[in-house]
Amino acid sequence: MHTVTVAEATRQSEFSSPEMPKITETQWKALAEAAKASCERAYCPYSHFAVGAAVMGGDGATASGCNVENASFGSTICAERNAIFRAVADGARSIVALAIYTPTAEPVTPCGACRQVLAEFGGNAAIRAFALDGRSAEYTLAQLLPAGFRMEKPP
Ligand SMILES: [Zn+2]
Repeated sequence: MHTVTVAEATRQSEFSSPEMPKITETQWKALAEAAKASCERAYCPYSHFAVGAAVMGGDGATASGCNVENASFGSTICAERNAIFRAVADGARSIVALAIYTPTAEPVTPCGACRQVLAEFGGNAAIRAFALDGRSAEYTLAQLLPAGFRMEKPP
């Protein structure tokens, strides 16, 4: 069994997608607004922690999602994965941008599971988290998931 080292994973990531996509400020604004609108539809009666997300696929199409909680907590899904899965269901096979909105003082980053799911659809997605008072923070997936799990896709 071959174990992928951190150096190899980094090299593979750089090899598979050499450049960060350029997302315009207009596109970020639209994604942020979609994420905020989704946040308002969050179903979070247990945590009361509403999250909205919006993604842009490689073809420019967008999809959004909110967190949906469940009395069986393990059945809860995050806003980010909801948005990604919706984009894929609509036909996307790459994700180039992820916007997250939370009504919090500081921007919130995606959880580990969502980072891994995002990595499946492109290693260099741009991520911007938006919070109250226009606060935002930007990350690359490489920063948030430096040695994420990868598996070669069969031909
Ligand atoms: Zn998550």
